[in-house]
Amino acid sequence: MLRAYKYRIYPNKEQVLFLSNTFGAARFIYNKMLYDKIEHYKQTGQTLNNTPAQYKSDFPWLKEVDSLALANEQLNLQKAYKNFFRDKKVGFPKYKSKKKNYFSFTTNNQKGTVSIEDGLLKVPKLKSRIKIKVHRPLLGDIRSCTISKTPTGKYYASILVNEEIMPLPKASDSIGIDVGIKTFATLSTGEFIDNPKWLRKSEKRLIRLQRNLSRKQKGSKNRYKARLKVARLHEKIKNQRNDFLHKTSTILIRENQALGIEDLRVKNMLKNHKLAKAISEVSWAEFRRLLEYKSNWYGRQLTVAPSNYASSQLCSDCGHKNPLVKNLKVRQWICPNCGVSHDRDVNAAKNLLKLVT
Ligand SMILES: [Zn+2]
Repeated sequence: MLRAYKYRIYPNKEQVLFLSNTFGAARFIYNKMLYDKIEHYKQTGQTLNNTPAQYKSDFPWLKEVDSLALANEQLNLQKAYKNFFRDKKVGFPKYKSKKKNYFSFTTNNQKGTVSIEDGLLKVPKLKSRIKIKVHRPLLGDIRSCTISKTPTGKYYASILVNEEIMPLPKASDSIGIDVGIKTFATLSTGEFIDNPKWLRKSEKRLIRLQRNLSRKQKGSKNRYKARLKVARLHEKIKNQRNDFLHKTSTILIRENQALGIEDLRVKNMLKNHKLAKAISEVSWAEFRRLLEYKSNWYGRQLTVAPSNYASSQLCSDCGHKNPLVKNLKVRQWICPNCGVSHDRDVNAAKNLLKLVT
């Protein structure tokens, strides 16, 4: 099975130059190919099948760049088109902006062209090796390596390996999981998983920093500094959040054989602070992704509720549907049919458990 390991890397000056050239070339070829596809379509109504190799005579400097990094951009572009044709809501492929401040390229391992040894990372076309901090050992064969630079100037290598993963021994329990904003998740056992305290704190700080940034004059040094502060905090939140999501999903997967969750795309939420909502949505999407691949790895069964499943409105005791609970402000309710009293979220989690038992 494929598994990604992400490590911090510390390129020296010369390597930084190499990496930024490759980031630039990857962005260039992506944008150029996209531009040509659009123009070709405008003129002929046909899709242009272009490849990076076709551009090397017009732009000879591309020959000096890792050709796999360019080939992967072609694949990315094809994927963006495919996603667009499959689901128009995804939107037409967009140009990669320099201003986004997030750079990356992907290269592949061809018989040892990518390797890690003695704390050093080897990548194609670069003669020297980049210092890498391997905080957990990498198992399996390296398939590809994605190098990225964050808006605050940190560099990472995400190494994709083909690894044999042993399924966990069968567990006897099953669980339903209802996610929320204030409480991260409510379980069918009646337990709650709270959002970590740092999240609230970081959110408040982020709001302050963003307000501060918006007051700074455009193009000024102070604005640059303020933007860097915002980017640093964003990165910190992301790292802490991912850590929390990893730990939470691992525990749930380890302890349960079958798990039921909502289709989070249709999750209806009380109007909450915009930022809290945005952060929660990112967290849920990532949480679902983690549960999906971990249940795959470890031989667990994950069931996602159909989008029309009214997990909140159904009485988990007698199955009676109570439309009054549609009102998100109803936190506690008594079933008019059987008289059982419910906590909104625990009841929803119990209904999600029913999907798997
Ligand atoms: Zn009932």
